[in-house]
Amino acid sequence: MREARSGMDAGRLHVAIDGPAASGKTTVARSLAQRLGVLYLDTGAMYRALAYLALQTQTDADNEAALRRLCESEAICVVLDSNAPLGFRVFARGVELDDAALQSNAVNAIVSTIAAHPCVRDAMVRRQRAVASHASVVMAGRDIGTVVLPDAAVKVFLTASVAARVARRREQLARAGVDVTAHRLKEEIEERDRLDETRAIAPLVPAPDAHAIDSSAMSPEEVVDAIATLVARA
Ligand code: C5P
Repeated sequence: MREARSGMDAGRLHVAIDGPAASGKTTVARSLAQRLGVLYLDTGAMYRALAYLALQTQTDADNEAALRRLCESEAICVVLDSNAPLGFRVFARGVELDDAALQSNAVNAIVSTIAAHPCVRDAMVRRQRAVASHASVVMAGRDIGTVVLPDAAVKVFLTASVAARVARRREQLARAGVDVTAHRLKEEIEERDRLDETRAIAPLVPAPDAHAIDSSAMSPEEVVDAIATLVARA
């Protein structure tokens, strides 16, 4: 089956927002989507949902064959719905997952190992492109500008200092009811960045045509304004 690519979808607006862990992608992408009146998908939630399911089914994060079977069973499903609490819905074997499930320490510990398997990436990228082939969407992730939507109208590589990212993630986790120390969070964020940047397939790198934005000293509104300006000019 031929896969949909963003450049083939005349009239649809695709915005790619990539960046390291806790750089503010999801907040900014969701708010930008609202402002533009388009849909929003945080692709990290799809990898997190698979990690959650692996934990539930006691599937080892290194067991590529078992993860392939989980992917082939269509166990993970996303529905774009701007009225949903997350701005979209993500299901594992039919059960909708909330932020607490997706952001747990156990999921954080294995998600990057799971996301490095080629079969997992193939399955996720296929679904993400299928979503984009039907909709105007702001998509956040690690490989959206480089792999998933290489023809996106605007690509942003969003970064922030580790200190800013730790503080933001801590706040986000507290809202989801997950308690973790700043020290542990820093280690976890740096380890996930290392795994995401060094994996063989679709590593975290800026697309050559991405606009780099360092949000360390910016509010989410300022970042959204900056990207909305890029979209208006595209
Ligand atoms: O964005 P978030 O931190 O929720 O992503 C969780 C993990 O999912 C990342 O650390 C990365 O390993 C993986 N991921 C990915 N490709 C994406 C989005 C997330 O590999 N497009």
